[in-house]
Amino acid sequence: MAATPENPAASAPRRKVSRHRGEGQWAAGHHTPLNGNEQFKKDDDGLNVRTRIETIYSKRGFDSIDPNDLRGRMRWWGLYTQRKPGIDGGKTAILEPEELDDEFFMLRVRIDGGRLTTEQLRVIGEISQEFARGTADITDRQNVQYHWIRIEDVPEIWNRLEAVGLSTTEACGDTPRVVLGSPVAGIAEDEIIDGTPAIEEINRRILGNPAFSNLPRKFKTAVSGSPLLDVAHEINDVAFVGVDHPEHGPGFDVWVGGGLSTNPKIGVRLGAWVPLDEVADVHEGVISIFRDYGYRRLRTRARLKFLVADWGPEKFRQVLEDEYLQRKLVDGPAPAQPVERWRDHVGVHRQNDGRYYVGFAPRVGRVDGTTLTKIAELAEAHGSGRVRTTVEQKMIVLDVEEAQVESLVEALGALDLTAKPSPFRRGTMACTGIEYCKLAIVETKQRGSTLIDELERRIPEFDEPITININGCPNACARIQVADIGLKGQLVLDEQGRQVEGFQVHLGGALGLEAGFGRKVRGLKVTSDELPDYIERVLKRFEAEREDGER
Ligand code: SF4
Repeated sequence: MAATPENPAASAPRRKVSRHRGEGQWAAGHHTPLNGNEQFKKDDDGLNVRTRIETIYSKRGFDSIDPNDLRGRMRWWGLYTQRKPGIDGGKTAILEPEELDDEFFMLRVRIDGGRLTTEQLRVIGEISQEFARGTADITDRQNVQYHWIRIEDVPEIWNRLEAVGLSTTEACGDTPRVVLGSPVAGIAEDEIIDGTPAIEEINRRILGNPAFSNLPRKFKTAVSGSPLLDVAHEINDVAFVGVDHPEHGPGFDVWVGGGLSTNPKIGVRLGAWVPLDEVADVHEGVISIFRDYGYRRLRTRARLKFLVADWGPEKFRQVLEDEYLQRKLVDGPAPAQPVERWRDHVGVHRQNDGRYYVGFAPRVGRVDGTTLTKIAELAEAHGSGRVRTTVEQKMIVLDVEEAQVESLVEALGALDLTAKPSPFRRGTMACTGIEYCKLAIVETKQRGSTLIDELERRIPEFDEPITININGCPNACARIQVADIGLKGQLVLDEQGRQVEGFQVHLGGALGLEAGFGRKVRGLKVTSDELPDYIERVLKRFEAEREDGER
């Protein structure tokens, strides 16, 4: 029997109800909502808002939307209100949510595994041009985000997306979010194992399933069989990373409890090896633990990483095996440290079938509907009609014959989508920022684009892999804590003592087996205008003083 808000622990082990309200864990018998979010989720499943959007809100307009749907349940279908234009970052924390709300929406399209056909990409591009004022951003979770969406247009957008097998189901909200996957799954020459069937099975079981549509908070999943560790598995709630087991062969190493934002944590290994056809079972066990034992009292402690930190990997594995899988998992080895530092698949690379894939770099993930339509045309003319998005806000065209590679690279370059980017174009990411995000304090996308131009002009000889991640607020949508240079948007004082847009700097973060968080250097804040000078100084000093092999 499925767990629901009304019958939350139906599939969870029965426990004696503790007299303490505790952390609001369902498995401990705590079913009374302890905050507004838990209350609205109990009142009505977020998935149910779709009917109201189709039959009421899209017909009667923005003002007819129930506030609990507007700022809560609509996320279950990928919809967030966007920031009213012209409100500066200093007002973000002061104004009430309704004062920040525009009557237009951001709409997130989930692209599980980053897998797209050119037919799908063309539809995404057409929707952008027709309903989203041309906007379309590639996110660092392989999704596409539109802005300027009117509630009246949402049912038609869903019709068009769903006609080509795409959806916005559970793209936001306290739900199982998009499943990240290696964008070169099934075609990479160095692949350990293709995780695509596992992603499909996970979604078949979990996506839109009311048993998993009321989680304590969002739940992020990543699956990759690439030795490049190309899905940021360290910062997902659960991740399956390709390894070759000495006895059992290729399979996956299981990680749990990663996540950024406030209190960032690198995921921990359970020390377990899972074959391809058991990944979905283990995934279902982990997400069920999160649903049943996850903390629901405070939103700030409701991610899986807090439970994992309190239990430790041994207890987590034991509960998973004893209560959810009813069997022991096989012990397995850790993945190897990747030899290459770039994991974005940008450039021209040979596939396992002798053809090539071409990865290219839009500026900080920003494209537009017209460009996406042109990419679809190019991918059809030069490849077999398969395109991928990456977790670095990049894109890839697959299946290109050798004779077609140069012409594709040239045509992409003409669209300012270079396959031979500078380290700055290649390694700079930016979140949505103040242009549309209600939580933002500073502008990010344009700032990132200008920064790339400035650094390319000032230090053209720089050729080290470098990641520069720009966030518009203290959240972590652009993964600032694991960048070489992470920039956290906030208001800072300029030389005249005026409050202006700027950034707290974090230095030296990384992903990979040496994953760690950048150091927040006390007092190290720069104004937005000073940013190119500051980064130029850091990089020139690094070049001058680095030791052999130092990154
Ligand atoms: Fe918005 Fe902050 Fe996330 Fe950027 S990091 S998209 S400003 S919430």
